[in-house]
Amino acid sequence: MTSAIVHIFPCLKDNYGFLLHDPSTGETAAIDTPEAGKILAEADAKGWKITQIWNTHWHPDHAGGNAEIVAKTGAKVVGPKEVDRIGAAPDRIVSEGDTVEMGALKATIIETPGHTLGHIVFHLADQKIAFVGDTLFALGCGRLFEGTPGQMWDSLGKLRALPDDTVVYCAHEYTASNAAFALSVDAQNADLVAYADDVRAKRAQNLATVPTTIGKEKRANPFLRADDQKLQAFVGHAGDAVATFAEVRERKNNF
Ligand code: ZN
Ligand code: FE
Repeated sequence: MTSAIVHIFPCLKDNYGFLLHDPSTGETAAIDTPEAGKILAEADAKGWKITQIWNTHWHPDHAGGNAEIVAKTGAKVVGPKEVDRIGAAPDRIVSEGDTVEMGALKATIIETPGHTLGHIVFHLADQKIAFVGDTLFALGCGRLFEGTPGQMWDSLGKLRALPDDTVVYCAHEYTASNAAFALSVDAQNADLVAYADDVRAKRAQNLATVPTTIGKEKRANPFLRADDQKLQAFVGHAGDAVATFAEVRERKNNF
């Protein structure tokens, strides 16, 4: 089995760009297109040719670079239909359970409505990799611009069900502020305290906190723990995961 290479690099203010490379065929996908020039330059520096773009959602810091990269490389765009809100419709529109192939690599589509209604995640099960866009962040989750708390809680539940050793590529470096917030609702969680210490040390050296793993997030991320009894009690919604999730999300908005 081929082993995928993921090249991660900062884009814009706090986004990450990702290039997914299949060394067995040389094919490369840009996961979202926050900054076309930077992504093209990073691919060039690696000697990789971008053959596909995989979009997680329509926001400009995720699909805004599509047109320029397509013009320069002829890459085919795979994504949810909503990408047509800011430009051309994807060459291939995908939905729940679809398989996307690039070289010898294969991803399954997981629909995760909440941040936007069409948001999708690319899960490469045999590589133990997930590109989660703005659905799940290290110690956080995306804002609910279009969906409801119930929808987002269900979406995060699908990600939480992935194997613990799944490597999670989140699209933003928000972890330091997410950690500070998480401690405000779940301070007694020893896994969170240790995780937050590690984040502080990494950010002090300007190191990335992405990728993370499903296992780490399950233990420490309050947005994956809305069914935890202590967290529910702390925010005043014992026995109600959706209300707890909604309350935690609302508190984060105002943190
Ligand atoms: Zn977004
Ligand atoms: Fe974003």
